[in-house]
Amino acid sequence: MTSTLFRGGSFVTWADEPVEALVVEDGRVAWTGTAASAPATDEVLHLSGRCVLPGFVDSHTHLVFGGDRAEEFEARITGTAYAAGGIRTTVAATRAASTQELLARAQRLAHEALRSGTTTLEVKSGYGLTVEDERRCLEVARAITPHATFLGAHVAPDGDAAVYTSLVAGEMLDACAPLATAVDAFCEEGAFDVDQCREVLSAGKERGLGVHVHANQLRPGPGVQLAAELGALSADHCTHLSEADIQTLRDADVVATLVPGAEFSTRSPYAPARRLLDAGVLVALATDCNPGTSFTTSIPFVIALACRELGMTPQEAVLAATLGGATALGQDDIGHLRVGARADLVVLEAPSPTWLAYRPGVDLVHSVFKDGVAVR
Ligand SMILES: [Zn+2]
Repeated sequence: MTSTLFRGGSFVTWADEPVEALVVEDGRVAWTGTAASAPATDEVLHLSGRCVLPGFVDSHTHLVFGGDRAEEFEARITGTAYAAGGIRTTVAATRAASTQELLARAQRLAHEALRSGTTTLEVKSGYGLTVEDERRCLEVARAITPHATFLGAHVAPDGDAAVYTSLVAGEMLDACAPLATAVDAFCEEGAFDVDQCREVLSAGKERGLGVHVHANQLRPGPGVQLAAELGALSADHCTHLSEADIQTLRDADVVATLVPGAEFSTRSPYAPARRLLDAGVLVALATDCNPGTSFTTSIPFVIALACRELGMTPQEAVLAATLGGATALGQDDIGHLRVGARADLVVLEAPSPTWLAYRPGVDLVHSVFKDGVAVR
């Protein structure tokens, strides 16, 4: 197997000691250290002053859907408030689409994400909302990522959340659990209440699925407390948090996954990232890519938003979009470039990751490596 030495640039690895050079072999980071002590390798890649980061880990996306909601977006930016029911528009289009059409769309979006530096994606179902359509959506998700999340409890399709919850926690979970690695529920007025979410998430957890919760997005609520109660990997959105919520996240080691692209797109208040970080909560940044409220696959855009609007430093934002996302997915060999990590790397056409926020909207990705193979 070929070994490659990366040198001549700067490295963000999240290792304790500074790194001047890095060796990739067999798809893994095999060595890091000073330039002077670098071992002989088959190939040498000169970075010419560019910066190397761990590949981004986008731990919250809804990539499997039919149709688009450009008209809803246009209505909203001209003055109409967002309500959770907009999801139903996408549900109708998703049911009407063939599995091949859903897969082709999801693959295009996954490719778009990869080109912007995302080497690991989580993908949720949640726009099928029948046993068969949720199963189809998870098949599509599994075709593009190992991190597929069952989100049957996204919104109740006929408005009766109590009846629908029994279906989700029963027959639908039976059909979907074998394809999923995690379960999620939308804990929000107009979606599912805390008892309904607990029923679905507990049933998923009993089958060995990791737990995520769409929590405290549109108003204060019990979602974060439920996430802690169930030992969730992450509570996602976390826009409206009390001090007790923040302490609970920290004490229960639940990752707070922030998705500022959603607040950007809906002109809503941003999550209290500074309060979370200052309290010692582990924060992840994700795109929440979906056709209704955050139609972006770009983690660089999310990092720029986090620095501009959430008060995060560039270092904190990049940490959240790499190691934070990996922790939210329960993975320990991605999101960093310490020895033994998967060789998932982003090379920036810039000397430091600060430039991701300093030059917003500009494609600064020079190249991307997945398991040591150049994919851009
Ligand atoms: Zn979401």
